[in-house]
Amino acid sequence: MRVLVITGAGISAESGIPTFRGAGGLWRTFNAAALATPEAFQNDPETVWTWYRERRAGVRTAVPNAAHNAIVKLASHAREFLLLTQNVDDLHSRARWNGSSVTPDQLVQIHGDLFVTRCSRCTCSRRDENGDGTGVPACPCCGAPMRPGVVWFGEGLDPHSVARAERFVGDARADAVLVAGTTAAFPYIIDWARRAAGSSGRIIEINPDETQLSRFATTVIREPAAIAVPRIVDDLIANG
Ligand code: NAD
Ligand code: ZN
Repeated sequence: MRVLVITGAGISAESGIPTFRGAGGLWRTFNAAALATPEAFQNDPETVWTWYRERRAGVRTAVPNAAHNAIVKLASHAREFLLLTQNVDDLHSRARWNGSSVTPDQLVQIHGDLFVTRCSRCTCSRRDENGDGTGVPACPCCGAPMRPGVVWFGEGLDPHSVARAERFVGDARADAVLVAGTTAAFPYIIDWARRAAGSSGRIIEINPDETQLSRFATTVIREPAAIAVPRIVDDLIANG
């Protein structure tokens, strides 16, 4: 079985991480759309860092839920597998099934990684998984301010990540495309899902609400991810 899984913030909702459009949480109180921009970082890097450190702290205490874990199960049963996530949290990497996890080559974080701190000027970067400093970190290579390693509004995607997604989608048709917990508001998400499925492939959407992908889906499951994903994964493994 060749499988593409696409996920968004909704898959981490039941782990207690607020979605972008969901009620409450940092996205509402801080006005995410204004803060997650290169301009905000230029004008007020301290506030941007405060917000990202709060998000990091929230993710560090969160644990993967049944949906994250079931995706690892699917990965270990598939002949070829790619997990394309818009999430910047690390719950997909921390998820486990039978002691195994998704391998780095099975995972593309298309919108970056919350725990990466990278230079705003040069290519210097590091991971800040365990702790955070204060203020605006300075680049050890060139002294410029460092920023979170995520893709902000108005920025392009990382070409290397795009190339990995394109390679999987272009190589061969997927037998199943599973899309869970995303509004699919970005055109490239719909494009990748449709191209991977091809004319005869299956697109299974798991989302309590209708999305822009819904009309292209061959199966739509209006349930929370932690309930529906494990069931769909077992079904795919049993029936191909
Ligand atoms: P979104 O917030 O725009 O949409 C979340 C989607 O999840 C909605 O369609 C909603 O109906 C659905 N949803 C809510 N609860 C669900 C549940 N229990 N099970 C299944 N689906 C559920 O998220 P998006 O489409 O991923 O796009 C938002 C952007 O914000 C992305 O770029 C992402 O990088 C970023 N973001 C990431 C995180 C994270 O890393 N966890 C959190 C918030 C936002
Ligand atoms: Zn630098």
